[in-house]
Amino acid sequence: MTTIASNMQAVRAAMHAATLAAGRRAEEVELLAVSKTFPYEAIREAWQAGQRRFAESYVQESLHKMEALHDLPIEWHYIGPIQSNKTRPIAEHFAWVHSIDRLKIAERLSAQRPANLPPLQVCIEVNISGEASKSGVAPDEVAALAQTVAALPNLKLRGLMTVPAPTEDASEQHAAFARLRKLFEQLNRQGLRLDTLSMGMSHDFPSAIAEGATIVRVGTAIFGARHYGDKT
Ligand SMILES: *Cc1c(COP(=O)(O)O)cnc(C)c1O
Repeated sequence: MTTIASNMQAVRAAMHAATLAAGRRAEEVELLAVSKTFPYEAIREAWQAGQRRFAESYVQESLHKMEALHDLPIEWHYIGPIQSNKTRPIAEHFAWVHSIDRLKIAERLSAQRPANLPPLQVCIEVNISGEASKSGVAPDEVAALAQTVAALPNLKLRGLMTVPAPTEDASEQHAAFARLRKLFEQLNRQGLRLDTLSMGMSHDFPSAIAEGATIVRVGTAIFGARHYGDKT
């Protein structure tokens, strides 16, 4: 077995254990493989080991990989920061966007989504730990943005995403993820029909699953440590 295949097996086993420990069903949590900075060969290897959903954070880099992997019907997710001059390739090439954090970006993605494709599946990114440096909307601004995004014609608002302040303290991890889940529940009480909580990364996905994650975004634990060149 390749390293990527055995890493994936370990991640899936840990996800499964966390899901059952939380009294949830295994099918309730999906693994999104975060392949940013890794070459397309690594994605092909993960595909051969059964992975179908991959996430990228840099537009240019992802377009090259999509071209190299066009023979595979991969479901591509965009999870990186979005500049308004990069919305068109995102609207044209991705199935999902997890990192909506302002209305202008959502409006552009909706306007630029090609008519022959299904609506772009989107999540609003929430700055749940209130870090000044982080992207994402403040928790008290989520409801207004969510109502407006939900009304855009070519987007389908699926839920919320967050990257909390990194910590190895499990109780802090739980607290941050629980805050996102409460926001999500509030929005559903206000009439939205959200089904996605995109939360949990390599170091904290078991805590996220315990708090209700439906998608965990795992990079390092599958592909190894990232080495950043100059990526856009
Ligand atoms: C890079 C990234 C991940 C994956 O992080 P790992 O720690 O490598 O698992 C998840 N979510 C977002 C938004 C990312 O940018």
